[in-house]
Amino acid sequence: MPKKTIRDIELSNKRVLVRVDFNVPLEEKDGQMVITDATRIQETLPTIKALLEKGAKVILCSHLGRPKGQRDPKQSLAPVAPALSALLGVPVEFSEETTGPVALAKAQALPAGGVLLLENTRFHPGEEKNDPELAKGLAELAEIFVNDAFGSAHRAHSSTAGVADYLPAVSGLLMEKELAYLHDELENPDRPFVVILGGAKVSDKIGVINRLLEKADTIIIGGGMAYTFRKIVQGISIGKSLYKPEWEPIAQAALDKAKERGVKLLIPVDAMITDSFDFDAKKLGTTKYTGVHESIPDGWEGVDIGPESVKLFSEAIAEAKTVIWNGPMGVFEIKEAAKGTFEIAEAMAANTSAKNIIGGGDSVKAVKKAKLADKMTFISTGGGASLELLEGKVLPGVACLQEK
Ligand code: AMP
Repeated sequence: MPKKTIRDIELSNKRVLVRVDFNVPLEEKDGQMVITDATRIQETLPTIKALLEKGAKVILCSHLGRPKGQRDPKQSLAPVAPALSALLGVPVEFSEETTGPVALAKAQALPAGGVLLLENTRFHPGEEKNDPELAKGLAELAEIFVNDAFGSAHRAHSSTAGVADYLPAVSGLLMEKELAYLHDELENPDRPFVVILGGAKVSDKIGVINRLLEKADTIIIGGGMAYTFRKIVQGISIGKSLYKPEWEPIAQAALDKAKERGVKLLIPVDAMITDSFDFDAKKLGTTKYTGVHESIPDGWEGVDIGPESVKLFSEAIAEAKTVIWNGPMGVFEIKEAAKGTFEIAEAMAANTSAKNIIGGGDSVKAVKKAKLADKMTFISTGGGASLELLEGKVLPGVACLQEK
């Protein structure tokens, strides 16, 4: 997917509109909104710094939260301006209007190397409808559009895709990296290529399973969705583990496709089970491990993979040259059920000769919780966008960028 990047165009003295992902978590403290995690701001720094070094005038836009087309002071991007300024070491001007005369005047007044942050794009009712008027309003502020908001690239909104109808559009450095690891790398992976998929629902991940069955040597399936596979393949009963009858034909089709293509499909052979499970209170009742290929009793449910599954999966991971992981092996939010997920993260970290890619969402949280983030080759910043890209879908925020 060779898209032009900010390295491929002349930027000196140009007003550049950059769509970033500043959808940071905010908390109210003493009547002020405070950023509780600035990771998303930090992720955009390489692109912003590169633009400033090239003498561009940088105009940043982003959504924050779900204000549903209404101005909401609690979802304002205003607190991001000083936080970004501190990280960049240059002043960051803020425009309380996203488009229109105020924003335009501020954009036009920017010197080369100046930075302007626009108010939340979702304060405008047109944003999520990909309203061309809003797209034109944004385009009017700049001469070039840069999309660096990978996490929003699966949405066709005015600021992620629509604006590219009116300006030359290229990718930022974060977007480039995401596409390199979650797309290009998987087209021609170093082999063996092992895919680890977990999470709750078969229906949510089947698109990724089907797509990666065409690329992978081994697919490991864990998490809640594994019980449907275990029921079919091992003929065990699964108690009240996560399962829906309509997932069975989907899982069966994946098993058939794996067989047809000679892809090894590894599923758990044991589980940690519990007789009660309160997600909100983060509490499990009595827990125990099943034996290998042992049924789960009625009234009990699987909440993590067991030690024999960890061993089986870790052996495959140890031989891999490329590993991509999306979705936890169990209910990792609850400490007692996080072991399997953490041990898979450790197996990846231990294989230092592989490219270890964390493909977004909850696996990112798990790797960070396991304190293994710095051992991974790449950690995606996307959730829905990562999944859609892994499914082989075209993302509107990527499709709109110029080809190399
Ligand atoms: P996903 O967003 O599809 O990757 O799913 C992540 C969610 O799956 C996490 O919140 C996990 O708690 C949940 N999950 C993983 N394993 C299980 C399981 N065995 N039973 C119920 N939920 C699970």
